[in-house]
Amino acid sequence: MRNLTAKFSATFITIMVASSIIAFFLSNYYYQHILKPLNDEKNTKIAVEIATFAEKHPEIHIDDYLDQVSRTGYQIYLVSQQEEEQFFGTPYRVKYLPKKTIEDVLSGKTYHGIEQFPTGTFITGFFANELINTIGVPLTIGGHHYAMFVRPDIKLLFNEMHVLFGWLLLLTILLSILFVMISTKFLIKPIHTLTNATKKLKRGDFSIELDIHRHDEIGQLALHFTDMAHKLERMIELRKEFTSNITHDIQSPLSNIKGYIQLLQNDSLREEERQQYLQIIESETNRLSKMTKQLLILNSLEQSKDLLKKKKYNVAHQLKDLIRSYQWKTYEQNIMISYSLPDTMIMADPELLQHVWENLFTNAMKYNHDGGSIDITLAENETNIIISFKDTGIGLSDEEKERIFDRFYRVDASRSKKVEGTGLGLSIVQSVIMLHNGKIHVESTKEEGTTFIIHLPKL
Ligand code: ADP
Repeated sequence: MRNLTAKFSATFITIMVASSIIAFFLSNYYYQHILKPLNDEKNTKIAVEIATFAEKHPEIHIDDYLDQVSRTGYQIYLVSQQEEEQFFGTPYRVKYLPKKTIEDVLSGKTYHGIEQFPTGTFITGFFANELINTIGVPLTIGGHHYAMFVRPDIKLLFNEMHVLFGWLLLLTILLSILFVMISTKFLIKPIHTLTNATKKLKRGDFSIELDIHRHDEIGQLALHFTDMAHKLERMIELRKEFTSNITHDIQSPLSNIKGYIQLLQNDSLREEERQQYLQIIESETNRLSKMTKQLLILNSLEQSKDLLKKKKYNVAHQLKDLIRSYQWKTYEQNIMISYSLPDTMIMADPELLQHVWENLFTNAMKYNHDGGSIDITLAENETNIIISFKDTGIGLSDEEKERIFDRFYRVDASRSKKVEGTGLGLSIVQSVIMLHNGKIHVESTKEEGTTFIIHLPKL
């Protein structure tokens, strides 16, 4: 069952029905095996007492006497040897009694109709207003033999039955409580498991595998919880990785700079060498400066969405301006640029999107072949503006594609390491696009080229 409310309701309804059925069967067992023989015994005693009193007091007229007795709550059937019948008290609903039974009682035997009453009739048999559900005793008055059949009438029985109904109710309540306790334990168990998992998480242990396979809300909670724990673990790993990368990426240009400054202190250095070292120092300083700027951007992007300074502007103009500003570089690298950029209005932060386009464009140049090409397109569908940057560069393997958006990741191939970079550019691109509720994905084939496709929601 997928819904917890339905599960709770079904459980409690089942408990109530099951408790009532079990209580009914237990009470029935109590009636069949304990109450029925006891009742038979008690009524036999009463019947014998009625008969004995009548026999000892022949002066009292039997009809009057039995009429009096019946008024105290009994149904009596008197039959003589000559088959003269008389009924006293509330009439019987079924007046059938085998002839053999009457003959047996007339011959002095006691008839235990209450105890022998069919067991199939459950507790209701107790109330069966039938002549066979009686106690039969012999009676002799003034030399005349009679058979007398007695049973308490329904009013009297109801009085006695309240004990049985009391038991039935008590049993139902007790069984319900017991079942509710058991089922609650079962329902609550996964919550205990989850509580223990949170404690484990608090201690910094992320190896959480919950043994909860349910389809309801608790199952969903367990699923999301495991997912969250794994994500948290990955985040902490990334943070550690990030710190160690940052230390390494700042440390290596710094030690380069330090090394070249030491070399520059050597007076015997040729002018040519001096210029070369100064160039390296400048390039390393630029790299450090770019990296700190990018880290600042990344950090501020992480802060909040309120940071976005959105405005409505023509994104095609922005892209064309960018292409124009890099024209000298494309000439230098002998790269052909083509584009299809129809005027399109967008509601976005122009400064942040500028970082995105610049990064994708410079990457398309950096990781391109000499004489390669770049194609930039802008299109729109019903909901999105779609921008793509396609190059004919070195391409990416599937594994590299998976990782290029990770911070500090640079494809570890001499080709891409030759060019300057920090490995932070695409992380910024992804964060900016996500802040705009957009999507970015990459298609690439090794040695053929790469295409970055961006979907941004319209206005
Ligand atoms: P970088 O500063 O190194 O360019 P990025 O985050 O912009 O950092 O890119 C990460 C890595 O992804 C790059 O180092 C490069 O290996 C790979 N890459 C990015 N763009 C392209 C592209 N257009 N073609 C091939 N590889 C690319």
